[in-house]
Amino acid sequence: TPMAQLIDGKAFAANLRRTIADQVAQLNRDHGITPGLAVVLVGNDPASEVYVRNKGRQTIEVGMQSFEHRLPQNTDEAQVLDLVARLNADPNVHGILVQLPLPEQIDSAHVLAAIDPKKDVDGFHVINAGLLATGGKGLVPCTPLGCMMMLHDHLGDLSGLDAVVVGRSNIVGKPLAHLLLAANCTVTIAHSRSRDLPDICRKADILVAAVGRPCMIKGDWIKPGATVIDVGINRIPAPEKGEGKSRLVGDVDFASAQKHAGAITPVPGGVGPMTIACLLANTLTATCRIHGLDPSD
Ligand code: NDP
Repeated sequence: TPMAQLIDGKAFAANLRRTIADQVAQLNRDHGITPGLAVVLVGNDPASEVYVRNKGRQTIEVGMQSFEHRLPQNTDEAQVLDLVARLNADPNVHGILVQLPLPEQIDSAHVLAAIDPKKDVDGFHVINAGLLATGGKGLVPCTPLGCMMMLHDHLGDLSGLDAVVVGRSNIVGKPLAHLLLAANCTVTIAHSRSRDLPDICRKADILVAAVGRPCMIKGDWIKPGATVIDVGINRIPAPEKGEGKSRLVGDVDFASAQKHAGAITPVPGGVGPMTIACLLANTLTATCRIHGLDPSD
């Protein structure tokens, strides 16, 4: 059996960052503008620490300014809202990202609603969600944006293809379904209450898994030749690597899926690296729009 082609998200993301770096340099040369991204981290969740550090490093690497705001675990909601208000008003800040999850005394919906939608580079504000749902020009969540870039790169025009998205979260499944619909796919959204998930998946020319369940989607759920995008990032025990060791796997059972799919994103090295690259792309887009410039120039 022929093996699926690997969609190399790591290489794709590196290319995208080079393009962004060129555009940042040009923006600086022609207009004297340096895009700035502010990241707010409340508390000391170890996974969030790693994400924030990587975001900061890559922001600087493409020539943007990075502003990191670290607040203690016991920060109250008013203090976070106050910081967001200052970042909204700061002309050097074009993108604002509040790292989730927030400590329990803070309502993340209140914080996300306080971010200026024009600076909402995560695309989580209801204004941006609404613009996406109604075909307007807002900021699109980073992970779904990265998935679309890889799909367009691999398949070109997506018109008429059957797309199945497993998962309906506000940060991945739902926005991705809207993007696929806007690209003229026939879109099915499946979730934990869907009946006969394997059969639904078998109809997909494009199958996206955004569930959070290790290796749930099996090879025989995949239509021969389908393009599979695995968004899941799950850490599972890996005793074969030594006691107490772990490894990352996706929501798709990669070994069996590889024998059915036409192309597939690996985990790690697929969707993951694209997410931060798209955060930088969104920051560039936000900067251009704030300054009345066309981001596609
Ligand atoms: P959520 O937990 O918010 O959503 C999971 C979705 O999967 C829900 O809609 C849920 O259905 C559905 N689901 C759960 N169990 C089943 C099942 N047995 N059958 C069918 N559907 C099911 O997760 P996220 O969307 O935030 O993330 C999904 C995965 O993607 C996670 O592994 C996460 O780590 C990863 N991720 C990766 C990113 C990246 O950069 N690559 C970025 C963001 C997330 P229901 O709504 O009915 O409960």
